Amino acid sequence: MAGDPKEALWFAFRGDGLLVFEDEPIRVPIARDPGDLGLDVSFRWEIGALDGHACWAAEVRAYDGPPQGMIFRGLRSFFYEVDEEFFRMAGRAKQFVGWHTTHRFCGRCGGETEPAPGELAKRCTRCGMMHYPRLSPAAIVLVRRGDRILLARSPGFPKGLYSVLAGFVEPGESIEETVAREVREEVGIEVRDIRYFGSQPWPFPNSLMIGFTADYAGGELSPEPGEIEDAGWYRADELPESPISVPARVSIARAMIDDFVERHGLDPADLKIPE
Ligand SMILES: [Zn+2]
Repeated sequence: MAGDPKEALWFAFRGDGLLVFEDEPIRVPIARDPGDLGLDVSFRWEIGALDGHACWAAEVRAYDGPPQGMIFRGLRSFFYEVDEEFFRMAGRAKQFVGWHTTHRFCGRCGGETEPAPGELAKRCTRCGMMHYPRLSPAAIVLVRRGDRILLARSPGFPKGLYSVLAGFVEPGESIEETVAREVREEVGIEVRDIRYFGSQPWPFPNSLMIGFTADYAGGELSPEPGEIEDAGWYRADELPESPISVPARVSIARAMIDDFVERHGLDPADLKIPE
């Protein structure tokens, strides 16, 4: 029954695969209980609401094949097919399930954990230690030099894809220090005027991407071997013409590139995405 709040959207994972319908557009099943879908789940947690439905994350323990017309698909496989709201909820579900699967036992004493009532936490049944979902903050930065921006590609990127630089925050470091260090390590240049842009949860596996812009302050581009395959400076009007492609709309990397392109009076819809 459409609109019945008891009919929840189930974001059910088996490994890294999310249960979705095979046909387009990408969507997850609606049910009162995963049992109605023929799924036996080992973990469930209510994670919010979308389109008037409650949303639940679940880990599938056993099943007799996926339900009719559905498959398990990795989130990365539908970057370019879903909107930001759906991606965010699917990513939230993935992180809750990932937290469950990696915190079945206490990291201090090895005891079993159980959900702590009323908290987003698991408590060790032996020593009482509380285990909260882990988040890994990362800095992502768009570096400007005059009317150009720095784009680079990692060896692991899909063919032709270039993006802005990013890296994890290290213990004892401010996020601005992370920005400066990552840029220095990855491409050998210095930056100044580091300014906040925005942030985005990034569920691979549990990052919070914190976005900045910065201006070039000195040095020559020298990509770090093994980390950066190629890097270069691009004008907004070169992007649609160049052979490079840019990240999906759901990513903050793309939001930063689109913002730059729009500020130069161009339409981000003309940018290429990987084939
Ligand atoms: Zn313990």
